[in-house]
Amino acid sequence: MLRVVVLGAAAGGGVPQWNCGCRICNAARGANPELQSTQSSIVVSADDEHWFLINASPDLRQQLISTPQLHPKHGALRHSPIAGVVLTNGEVDAVAGLLSLRESSPFTIYAHRQVLAILAANSIFNVLNDRLVRREPIVTDHAFEPLLSDGSSSGLEILPFVVPGKRAWYLEGQQHPGDNSAEGDTLGLLVTDKGSGQYFYHLAACARVTPDLAQRITGAPLVFFDGTVWRDDELIAAGLGSKTGQASPSTLFSGDRAS
Ligand SMILES: [Zn+2]
Repeated sequence: MLRVVVLGAAAGGGVPQWNCGCRICNAARGANPELQSTQSSIVVSADDEHWFLINASPDLRQQLISTPQLHPKHGALRHSPIAGVVLTNGEVDAVAGLLSLRESSPFTIYAHRQVLAILAANSIFNVLNDRLVRREPIVTDHAFEPLLSDGSSSGLEILPFVVPGKRAWYLEGQQHPGDNSAEGDTLGLLVTDKGSGQYFYHLAACARVTPDLAQRITGAPLVFFDGTVWRDDELIAAGLGSKTGQASPSTLFSGDRAS
């Protein structure tokens, strides 16, 4: 059975954002702690025992602590149920949490070669020992089965596909460490449980819904979608900046908690 746990659903920075004094962040710090939210990320499993993280947010450590499914199994001195991480883009919001997964546990990073090139170009990610943490390229429109750390079947199938996106903010105006095609910088995922056929779509940092994309997800039982902002001029209207939503690839999900 396909299982998904939503680890967080907030945009980049989370709620409250460390330096934000807007009405909502102030409420989250004070009278309405229920508004607090970590940055968007989910985990998925076909067996309720081995989990694949989709994007590793900067809030990952806190998310792992508060998610019992992701704790080391009882009695093990060193163990993690996380078998792999699938990265759908190279934004800080998607990759910074990898740094919290050091400490010599085996798992596999699955990402497009564009995103793997970003990791390779930033030596801080070498804290993940490459003898234990494999980096596996994924190819658009080619379904793959993420494997468990012993090489056995996970029971999941993931189809990555190109969605409209934009280059990571910190690479704007810079040479991309991959190539300059931009294809592969932002991926959508179709995740299927091979046993039951249950599936969902995951779309993070998606810049717009094209007719093709709308057609693809029509009728899907579950879609996690990064809507960025509700209105394109939301940040401007709140006095928080001059960027429109379309220029901001931060993440905000709308989707049901499913398990
Ligand atoms: Zn705020």
